[in-house]
Amino acid sequence: MENKQKEYANLLIEIGLSLQPGQTLLIQSPVECAHFARLCASAAYDAGCREVVLSWSDDRLTRERYLRAADGVFDEVPEWRRRFFNDYAAARVPRLVIDATDPETLRGVDTGRIVRAQRAAGEALEPYYHAYMNNDAPWCIAAVPIPSWAKKVFPDKSEDEAMAALWNAIFETVRITGDGQSAARWRAHLATLKARKDKLNALRFKSLHYTNSLGTDLTIELPEGHLWAAGNGATPKGQPFVANMPTEEIFTAPHRMGINGVVYAALPLVDNGNIIDGFHFVIREGKIVASHAERGGEFLEAAYTVDEGASRFGEVALVPYDSPISNQGILYYNTLFDENARCHLAFGEAYPECLEGGNAMSREELKAHGLNWSINHVDFMVGTADLSIVGTTHDGREIPVFIDGNFAL
Ligand code: ZN
Ligand code: ZN
Repeated sequence: MENKQKEYANLLIEIGLSLQPGQTLLIQSPVECAHFARLCASAAYDAGCREVVLSWSDDRLTRERYLRAADGVFDEVPEWRRRFFNDYAAARVPRLVIDATDPETLRGVDTGRIVRAQRAAGEALEPYYHAYMNNDAPWCIAAVPIPSWAKKVFPDKSEDEAMAALWNAIFETVRITGDGQSAARWRAHLATLKARKDKLNALRFKSLHYTNSLGTDLTIELPEGHLWAAGNGATPKGQPFVANMPTEEIFTAPHRMGINGVVYAALPLVDNGNIIDGFHFVIREGKIVASHAERGGEFLEAAYTVDEGASRFGEVALVPYDSPISNQGILYYNTLFDENARCHLAFGEAYPECLEGGNAMSREELKAHGLNWSINHVDFMVGTADLSIVGTTHDGREIPVFIDGNFAL
């Protein structure tokens, strides 16, 4: 186990961030994952890191703050916090996010406080969010188990067994078998994703039509000049990185005004610790005009009404139903994994890299080209075993992109 954890830490530094000698590294980690954060820091120093800087978080105190702190704090971001994140972003410091959250940590918390805190952070830390969203510096999000999350995923196991099971499941998703060859497997995997991406970019679809037996019947227009991207990006200086590990998706941005129809979620969505299940959206000219959920509808509404852009869409992602994560049959209650198990859409912000020249454009220019902006970006799964996606080209040809849940190209 310890050896696999070390291999994982090395993989994040080598493939996730391609950390270069002399670079500073920012690690964001929950306090419960201190052991793994230390392994990552050691791997970074082994790679010649100048300094590892830590930003710790604690689920329990985050929850207690939402429940018990004075109301005014949810509209404030203190100067030191702005400087910390905005300064490291301005210095283009590679950033590793260790993701481990109890999916229900914010259950029962006033959603108004969460929304206000998100808004305040969105404004105060705009340069920081922008720099990483724009791929100006390498970033990588990867997950490690914590007991509360492990028990949620494996409720019938003891805490120790659940932790071991979740570690092993995560190792499988990031292609770690214990033979020390995971970096080589990742290079091959990234090459497969690139080949699919290149095919889609060559076709330059005008629109995609989704249908399945859940009731989804959705047409998604793609903006002129849209680009499909895969999980591996690069900074303007050419430093490669993998923003999410694991990653199985090929994604682009939809036109913010060009989505029409009905889309049904294929899996529950966990947003800010709240579980939203059995939901669908009705969408007209890009905007969510109605939604219904069997469970958690109020949280869904809170998420897509945070600001104007939150009710429009920012991402269209293709993931084969027959993918390693999907085949595990595990519901992780964590977007990092669940979004890589299924085709998904996201409402909220679009990635500028999904438009030709987008990384150099202002927010207004991106909007003029059809890319959405919001402080939110919420992925939800739409892929099923019978999902069909048909692409229409600008000269009117109809080409199957997905048949029965898998790539047909
Ligand atoms: Zn995605
Ligand atoms: Zn997304």
